[in-house]
Parts: sequence; structure tokens; C-alpha cells
Amino acid sequence: MAEVRLQQVVKKYNNQTVVKGLDLVIPDGSFTVLVGPSGCGKSTTLRMIAGLEEITAGDLLIDGQRVNDLAPGKRDVAMVFQNYALYPTMNVFDNIAFGLLNRGFSKKDCKRMVEEIAEIVGLSSYLQRKPAELSGGQRQRVALARAMVKKPRVFLMDEPLSNLDAKLRNQMRVELTSLHKQLGTTFIYVTHDQVEAMTMGDQIVVMNEGEIMQKASPFELYQQP
Ligand code: ADP
Ligand code: ADP
Repeated sequence: MAEVRLQQVVKKYNNQTVVKGLDLVIPDGSFTVLVGPSGCGKSTTLRMIAGLEEITAGDLLIDGQRVNDLAPGKRDVAMVFQNYALYPTMNVFDNIAFGLLNRGFSKKDCKRMVEEIAEIVGLSSYLQRKPAELSGGQRQRVALARAMVKKPRVFLMDEPLSNLDAKLRNQMRVELTSLHKQLGTTFIYVTHDQVEAMTMGDQIVVMNEGEIMQKASPFELYQQP
């Protein structure tokens, strides 16, 4: 669990400023959704928090510590991508366990942790399968499990449901919401889908052209004319 704080965070690519001085507090344990049209800077913001993109100016704090210059692996955050990024030749167990490599856990501990997470996301009977032998929803669960097994302080998701059909997407929304309750971890979730934002987030940050237009609870947004 952790609070994430952005102070005047700027991102420039060449001469284009795509994130224009964001000030934002993401409370510990919140489910914060960044929503806005394609190209407004949501992914870039998420990637800066993950440490996958350098911050041009401003400060990024996690639990009060400035992490601008910390490598991704040292930030104790985990990211789930929209294209799953699973290893096709590894089975589900190894894909999930991959998140634990280089962390010094014994084989026995790894096994216990992978099995525990597999249980949570409903993959216990699929641990020996390869990604190609899974449905889209199951693959998405593997990607979630691989991030979760590291027990990160902050869980970052970039349109994780966009490759799923409508029915599965609805189901996964419910599952992710309950997963958030269960874990109590800070979730930061990027989507261009307003319905998704409204149904999942407890704090909704509306972005446009690299700026925050509005920050509210779903209830406050719903109340608006
Ligand atoms: P969103 O996630 O809201 O769709 P992005 O954060 O992906 O938006 O992109 C914001 C803007 O930054 C877009 O104009 C995009 O073209 C630009 N951009 C993103 N990544 C790069 C990059 N690596 N180099 C140059 N421009 C980029
Ligand atoms: P998303 O909107 O989900 O971020 P994109 O297709 O915009 O997906 O971006 C995919 C990848 O391409 C990202 O790594 C992003 O940084 C990079 N990218 C996006 N726009 C540009 C751009 N104008 N120039 C270079 N790289 C870009």
C-alpha cells in the first residue's frame, strides 16, 4: 500500500509537451482511474510512475520518497499491459513465477506464492498450460497474477481489458474491483472508456491534452448536469 504524489510533473518528447505540469495525489489504497481521449497523456503518466519513462520536470513521490531517479525494479510497483506480454514458451506457473525471479525466494516459497495467487485469480487448474492454450480472459488473469505475485505497493494497469470482448470485459471489471478490495493495494488504472472509469474507480481523474480537467468521485461526476 502506498500513496503516490505527482508535483508539477512534465513530460516532453522532443519539442512536444505531452504532460503539462500534473499535480495529483493518489491516496493509499485508492482505485484511481485516469480517463480521457486517446493521446491525452494517460499512458505516459502511468509509464512515468512505473519508471518506464523519464520525467522531464517535477517530482514523483511514493510514500513521501522522491523516486524520479529510481529504476523500475526499485520502486515496488507492478504494471499490467494491454497486450498481456506473456512468455509464449512458458506455462502459466512459470509465467507467474517470472515476477519472483531475482528476488531470492526459495523454490518452495515461489511455489506457495504462485499457487496462492493462482487461487485468487481462478487459474489453479491451468498452471501447466501454455498461453496459446488459454482464452483471452485467462491470459489477462495470468498477466494480473504475474504482477500481483510480487505484492507491489502500487498496481498500475494500462487498458488491461481492451482486448477482451464486451461480456468478458464486464466480468473482469467486477473481478478487478473485488480484487482491489481484497488486496487493499493502491490501483492506478488507465482507460479511455468513461463507463469503465465510472464503474471501477473511487477517484476519477479526467485528462485532456496533457492536463487534468477534473478530479472527482463517481458520485460527484454522476451528480453533474
Ligand atoms: P494516451 O495514453 O492518453 O492515449 P499517450 O500518453 O500514449 O496518450 O500519448 C500522449 C502523447 O504523447 C501522444 O501525442 C503521443 O503521440 C505522444 N507520445 C507517446 N509516446 C511517445 C514517444 N515515445 N515519443 C514521442 N511521442 C510520444
Ligand atoms: P497507448 O495509447 O495505449 O499508449 P499507443 O499505440 O499510443 O498506445 O502507444 C504504443 C507505444 O508507442 C508506446 O510505447 C508509446 O510510448 C509509443 N508511441 C506512441 N506515440 C508515439 C509517437 N508519436 N512517437 C513515438 N512513439 C510513440
